[in-house]
Amino acid sequence: MALNEQEIKEQICDIGRRIYGRNMVAANDGNISVKLNDHEFLCTPTGVSKGFMTPEFICKVDENGNVLEANEGFRPSSEVKMHMRVYKLRPDVGSVVHAHPNFATSFAIAGRPLNIPMMPEAVIALGCVPLTPYGTPSTMEIPDAIEPYLNDFDSLLLENHGALTWSVDLMSAYMKMESLEFYAELLYKSEVLGGPKEFTPEEIKKLVDIRRKMGLPGKYPADRVGENCYKCKDCFWKRLGH
Ligand SMILES: [Zn+2]
Repeated sequence: MALNEQEIKEQICDIGRRIYGRNMVAANDGNISVKLNDHEFLCTPTGVSKGFMTPEFICKVDENGNVLEANEGFRPSSEVKMHMRVYKLRPDVGSVVHAHPNFATSFAIAGRPLNIPMMPEAVIALGCVPLTPYGTPSTMEIPDAIEPYLNDFDSLLLENHGALTWSVDLMSAYMKMESLEFYAELLYKSEVLGGPKEFTPEEIKKLVDIRRKMGLPGKYPADRVGENCYKCKDCFWKRLGH
């Protein structure tokens, strides 16, 4: 059942409270957007904590990021350009979430993609999460840096910055952010414990088959048939021996 505009604004506030409560943003960081149609998008405002929003905080912009509606005192996030680049290249996407989750952002700062196959849900839901080159926030550098990845992935690490996920709707985009952060947390902790035990190519293949049978929406890096996912060094799809 499709949500109406007011219900979507309430859902954005609810997800904002969750990302704030789950240590995925500090202070006023992070932003969320939802596509209403090809020319109207709801997005969170700049300069407010995403943990304390009410529906009248939410702004509306067009596909170029121009303001269509905003209550007095609220302006759209300056990062809305990054969201608009995702919608422009991925017509299947209905929502984009940007956050600075504690573990995932630590990997992004250390210059490390999430590309160790060691947990079934992470391989099925995400595949791998590449690290996109650093860009200065609020400039066109971030949209330009992520563009080459948009056709093969639904989640990215932004170098020295944070993470970006998208999907058909807000709940699914948020769930991808949770999965990504959980993957990063497990990877970090297993390294402290002596290093993860990685899956064999046979084990990875079985998980890829499960993902295909589930028919999940979106892009999946293993779907580059006959090609390695070339975007991150030491990509684990190489082990499948394409
Ligand atoms: Zn950010």
